[in-house]
Amino acid sequence: MNAWSQPPSDACPRCGGGFHCGANDATPCPCGTVSLDAATAAALRAGYVGCLCLACLVELKALEPNAAGPMAQDASAT
Ligand SMILES: [Zn+2]
Ligand SMILES: [Zn+2]
Repeated sequence: MNAWSQPPSDACPRCGGGFHCGANDATPCPCGTVSLDAATAAALRAGYVGCLCLACLVELKALEPNAAGPMAQDASAT
């Protein structure tokens, strides 16, 4: 009934927006739907406590240097 009306239980440490992290319950969490690069994920864990909101995760994902595709790794095919 009110599955989508849960009050935000967490505040995003990056943008300050409220969101609900599902790390401690069965609610799907944004951190489980956005697969960040290992380096980006490590930077997040070093700089923030807990999860960020979905908007921030998507934004960081878009900022990843190799988000454009595998072409960056093919430097030897000159
Ligand atoms: Zn955020
Ligand atoms: Zn989370």
